[in-house]
Amino acid sequence: MPEQINKEMLALLDDADALYHNAPCGYVSFLANGTIVKINRTLLTWLGYTADEILYQKKFGDFLSKGGQIHYEMFFRPMLNVSGSVKELSYELVKSDGSAFHVLFSAIAIRGESNAVQAVNAIITDNTDRKHYEKEILLAKKLAEGEKKTFQFLADLIPEMIWTAKADGEIDYVNQRFIYYFNLPEKSFSLNVILSKIHSEDRNIFISTWKANVLSGQDLHIELKLLNKHEEYEWHLVKAVPYRNEENQITKWFGSCTNINEHKRALKKKDEFMSIASHELKTPITSLMGTLQLLDRMKNDPSPKMLPNLIERANKNIRKVNSLVGELLNVSQLNEGQLHLTKTTFNIAEMITNSCHHVRTEGIFDVVVKGDEKLKICADESRIEQVLINFVNNAVKYAPNSKQIVISFEQQAEQVKFCVTDKGPGIPLEKLPHLFDRYFRVDSSGSQYSGLGLGLYICAEIIKKHNGRYGVDSQLGDGTTFWFTLPC
Ligand code: ADP
Repeated sequence: MPEQINKEMLALLDDADALYHNAPCGYVSFLANGTIVKINRTLLTWLGYTADEILYQKKFGDFLSKGGQIHYEMFFRPMLNVSGSVKELSYELVKSDGSAFHVLFSAIAIRGESNAVQAVNAIITDNTDRKHYEKEILLAKKLAEGEKKTFQFLADLIPEMIWTAKADGEIDYVNQRFIYYFNLPEKSFSLNVILSKIHSEDRNIFISTWKANVLSGQDLHIELKLLNKHEEYEWHLVKAVPYRNEENQITKWFGSCTNINEHKRALKKKDEFMSIASHELKTPITSLMGTLQLLDRMKNDPSPKMLPNLIERANKNIRKVNSLVGELLNVSQLNEGQLHLTKTTFNIAEMITNSCHHVRTEGIFDVVVKGDEKLKICADESRIEQVLINFVNNAVKYAPNSKQIVISFEQQAEQVKFCVTDKGPGIPLEKLPHLFDRYFRVDSSGSQYSGLGLGLYICAEIIKKHNGRYGVDSQLGDGTTFWFTLPC
């Protein structure tokens, strides 16, 4: 016998009564009618009673909660009758102080000669901890579901299309924006449907890139054209990053599709603009070079007949280059928000007369000015002059057969309205809303008239800066009126 175990200890271990009473579980025996006839100390302690208060005084059902009592009558008793035992039923026992605790309850029936249940031996284990864990798990699940819902709400709210894919690259979630953009059947889309939305020029390259990235675990970054629900292709930047678990294994991919159509269009426009601008600048420069060559050739023997013409031609071309460079400078000033106004109060009629001098001297057009000769306004005179010159020059350029150009101005309540009217060919209705856009030209082939499509854009910005309004009225075949207002 090992030394540590002495006789008294052995006696204690053999003491069935001590084992019964000190067991870490509750024991209770009751008669068929529920009257408790035996109970161990553990259960007495849990319940908060003495043996005398319970034995032959209380029935087992007295310790069950209301719901437990119904279950006990409807389920426990019939089951015990039929099968002779029950295992691990979950009940709540009510203590002497009214509080309750969760238990697991197993019991065996003791039958008499007629096979009827005479008594019940039951074992009760405290289930409070387990119930507690179960509650925590339920709570955690609820929290996780709540978070999932919040994520989905967020995911559906953002203006970007986002999606997730399984580790093998199969798309398993797309947000509402994605469904809406492609007009997909709600939540039941297949990979093939999504692939069919990729432009045929980009589809194969996307599939092979995506496959390679899924294998290598590298971020995806690809630009492609996607077909929207209006059956139009738009450029998108498709990005995806892998999500790795603690073992560094990829468990998910998070992806997005950003619409970069406007950006692509702007880049294309910029390229087109660069080529137009270079062409526009090249024409007067080439002409200027030709003139200078002629002047060079005749420098030792200048022809008095040709000289003034050549100088005038050179001047005209240099003015053209100067005005083009001026427009480009104006636009870059506007882009950097550096259009500063220097306001003074000036006489409007005088300003108009000065600004149209060049048209009058050419003698081709009849410039008519209508308005109160005394009317004054506080504005940036040189900028307003620039706007008027632009409108008048456009009338000269785009309405060459209009003999008369009318410049009018009048006070209307808190503002002065300026109009420049020609009797030219007019502008098609559908083009009118875009006239003041940057780079916009009605005849974009640009063959007939030269220009950068910047003049009206600059005018609009100058007027906006003065808190004025601007617009155009035009009738095909009848002529055009460009107008703007300035507050006074
Ligand atoms: P640009 O003259 O350099 O093309 P603008 O911004 O000044 O640029 O003008 C934009 C477009 O508006 C022009 O290309 C022209 O087609 C149209 N436009 C401007 N003024 C008139 C006008 N008086 N009559 C007809 N079309 C005009």
